[in-house]
Amino acid sequence: MSDVAVAGGGLIGLSTAWRAAQRGLSVTVVDDSPGTGASAAAAGMLAPVTEAGYREEALLRLGLASVERWPAFAADVERAGGTPVGLRTAGTLVVGFDEDDVRELTALHAYQRELGLDAERLTPREARRREPSLTPRVRGGLLVAGDHSVDGRALHAALLRAAQDAGVRLVRDRVTALRVDGGRAVGLETADGGTVAAGTVVLALGAHSGALPGMPPLPVRPVKGQILRLAGAGDLLEGTVRAVVRGRQVYLVPYAGDRLIVGATTEDRGFDPTVTAGGVHDLLHDAIDVVPGISELELVETLARWRPGTPDNAPLLGPGPLPGLVLATGHHRNGVLLTPVTAEVTAELLATGVLPEVAVPFTADRFGR
Ligand SMILES: Cc1cc2nc3c(=O)[nH]c(=O)nc-3n(C[C@H](O)[C@H](O)[C@H](O)COP(=O)(O)OP(=O)(O)OC[C@H]3O[C@@H](n4cnc5c(N)ncnc54)[C@H](O)[C@@H]3O)c2cc1C
Repeated sequence: MSDVAVAGGGLIGLSTAWRAAQRGLSVTVVDDSPGTGASAAAAGMLAPVTEAGYREEALLRLGLASVERWPAFAADVERAGGTPVGLRTAGTLVVGFDEDDVRELTALHAYQRELGLDAERLTPREARRREPSLTPRVRGGLLVAGDHSVDGRALHAALLRAAQDAGVRLVRDRVTALRVDGGRAVGLETADGGTVAAGTVVLALGAHSGALPGMPPLPVRPVKGQILRLAGAGDLLEGTVRAVVRGRQVYLVPYAGDRLIVGATTEDRGFDPTVTAGGVHDLLHDAIDVVPGISELELVETLARWRPGTPDNAPLLGPGPLPGLVLATGHHRNGVLLTPVTAEVTAELLATGVLPEVAVPFTADRFGR
């Protein structure tokens, strides 16, 4: 029997398992294909400021707490995992193309300043000086120096190694149910008919966390995202570029030498895994509008995965609806960003029974019983 069984070996489950093992707990992770969920699709933006929606201040604060932890976290994972995670600290540039966009950038900048956030308005010339490959049609920009990015897949690989070296046991099997005894979570049932018994169970199944047999349902739903990977980008972009083109959001994230990620659609289509012609068309069309040189690049991968969405776009952390069950899920658009803080607060709860203050606004009881 383990102290802790973690259901799901994506970025959230693995990082939590690793941190818990570092606290001296025995930990088992159960996942039939670790790292193939949303974590495989993520663009890797660590973007609390440019992702923040109006009236999402609590989530913004959690994101800021996490982005602050990122440099030390990345160094720690790289040391323990033995491979780089591709943290880029070049910042994020948001650009606008017409008067409406520029008005929106001005409003966004005012809101960010009101919250005391670090963001700088740029003229079109300043925006293009920073990113010379931008279309000359750019009318204005907003530079958020503290919004970074990381290579999500490299991070997952390093975390897997770090966790296993720290003693985390990986069971490659599908979780079929939560095992409950006397009203308390006591382990996980698996597809091979076995049980992983544990003192505490951590639910980290990403978009699949909403309905696990044996557990009361949780407000987590799949939010589909299609995303593209291109090769041959060289130094086309210095940092992340975001824009709204014909009302659609697009972002371009350079990573791993000559690679570039173009993302992403946002669709409520359940667990639909298809990459559609329209999705790829819209992403490429919008990306080429922003950086025309993208049309020369090689399209090397298209992928659709599901963000673990919640009603308020914020994660579910802390005690679950049953004794013995802890939640680390519902990270929606920000799971990579929130990996360090989630792992830290969840490991603290597992080791001491106390949920750190920063996570308290994100317990599941905010949605009622
Ligand atoms: C297109 C796209 C772009 C994104 N871009 C960003 C970004 O730039 N920045 C950012 O911060 N976030 C981004 N996200 C969000 C981020 O990817 C997620 O919030 C994060 O990966 C969630 O991690 P997770 O470990 O909770 O879930 P997942 O990575 O989905 O991991 C869940 C794991 O559970 C396993 N699993 C599921 N069901 C079972 C079962 N029954 N039994 C056993 N195992 C099971 C899966 O195999 C998987 O490994 C993006 C998401 C998408 C889809």
